[in-house]
Amino acid sequence: MNEIIKKNASELVDLMASGELSATEITKAHLDRIAEINGTINSYLHVTSEAALAVAADVDRRRAAGEKLPLLAGVPIAVKDNLTTTDAPTTSGSKILEGWIPQYDATVVTKLRNELMPILGKTNLDEFAMGSSTEFSAFGPSRNPWDIERIPGGSGGGSSSAVASYSAPLAIGSDTGGSIRFPAAVTGTVGHKPTYGAISRYGLIALASSLDQIGPVSRNVLDAALLQDVIAGHDPHDSTSLPESLGSMAEAARNGSVKGMRFGVIKQLSGEGFQPGVKKRFDETLALLTANGAEIVEVDCPSFEYAIAAYYLILPAEASSNLAKFDSVRFGMRVNPGENATIERVMAATREAGFGPEVKRRIILGTYALSSGSYDKYYGAAQKVRTLIQRDFEAAFAKADVLISPTAPTTAFKFGEKVDDPLAMYLNDVATIPANLAGTPGIAIPNGLADEDGLPSGVQLLAPARADARLYKVAAALEALHEAGWGKRMMDFAPELKVGA
Ligand code: GLN
Repeated sequence: MNEIIKKNASELVDLMASGELSATEITKAHLDRIAEINGTINSYLHVTSEAALAVAADVDRRRAAGEKLPLLAGVPIAVKDNLTTTDAPTTSGSKILEGWIPQYDATVVTKLRNELMPILGKTNLDEFAMGSSTEFSAFGPSRNPWDIERIPGGSGGGSSSAVASYSAPLAIGSDTGGSIRFPAAVTGTVGHKPTYGAISRYGLIALASSLDQIGPVSRNVLDAALLQDVIAGHDPHDSTSLPESLGSMAEAARNGSVKGMRFGVIKQLSGEGFQPGVKKRFDETLALLTANGAEIVEVDCPSFEYAIAAYYLILPAEASSNLAKFDSVRFGMRVNPGENATIERVMAATREAGFGPEVKRRIILGTYALSSGSYDKYYGAAQKVRTLIQRDFEAAFAKADVLISPTAPTTAFKFGEKVDDPLAMYLNDVATIPANLAGTPGIAIPNGLADEDGLPSGVQLLAPARADARLYKVAAALEALHEAGWGKRMMDFAPELKVGA
């Protein structure tokens, strides 16, 4: 394996600054890696080699000319395929959008281009970001580099597997109920769901607009912080975008500390009933924090019990409305049902052929929840639960600076294990969904390997709205404590990927 691809983003920045590596060498090394393993691991749906190499060459030229460059210039990145790009297809993992090339770049993509970061390609996801395993992608699942018979998490399993398999140092994800954090947990990587509104959603193909949030995916906390600093900020194109800056995440990550911080263990998410190895590592982390000057307190969030139920009413309701625009007239695929083709029949035939089973399930559920007679009973009730969850968070943050829980109940499961059991699949997000319902930030970092299966487990830290920097400060410190204990980086435990197996 070419050692270049094992470097973190911050290391690549230094190696370019000192002249030891060029942006072209770095980009080529990653493209070679993709050519070598993507056939097996399916992280990328589209690889944009030429465009990436052109940006890299531009960076090298400018550097040689003595130009002052943006911090992450020349660091390659992967982008989830639910963000629009003018130079590559954007499918959102669905057949209904196959071949569609958008007319505009998502704001996040524009920011990456302005930073001169070579975009390696677009990563796989469950169709319209509905799922936890990538098994609902219309283009086949991505695989977990730790064990290619297992899921890399979802919906952002393309981004997590790309970063975990060294096919990209950084990636962009989106998190509606856990799609950045769950994949991070099961691949031993880092993912952050920022405060709602911290990063523009303009150009993100909406799943559930009141829950969706774009965020960074990386192999360490500092890299995620550096990337968030590039993509965050107010955007007039997104009416929910926060007007103010939340400060420098990189500065917070560089000043990591847990001393004197109060960590709230959520009674309902303390790991009870989770996979034993996940719970064991979690308890060890609590002890590690205490030993390093942090205080552990218990907080009670009784309404979290209803989070999944509320989420699976609010999300399908919003999704059914957001997906109504895929009607065969404006985007992508069109199916002609033959004779007597009316516009309604063309739409119906296209949606029947273009959407997969999970998308159809949620459209039906959402349309029902919004129908007159059901609206108050289901959608209205779910919105009330949402308020109760926000109040639980408020009460918890009166007692604790950050909250802590395992990111997910289990390590990566095998393909096929949950795909036919929607409820089992939905339970993966039991710990991540509350932050989406409340609009608050959450970061997932590796928490060691579970004893039973030797696979990565994750720990999640949660903070009040706008306190993203606090999360980076605490997560960076915890990461350093972990690595000191383990004696190496999390990814150094990963077995060598069996290519072609
Ligand atoms: N797994 C969750 C779902 O299926 C989360 C999806 C997401 O965050 N995009 O809805």
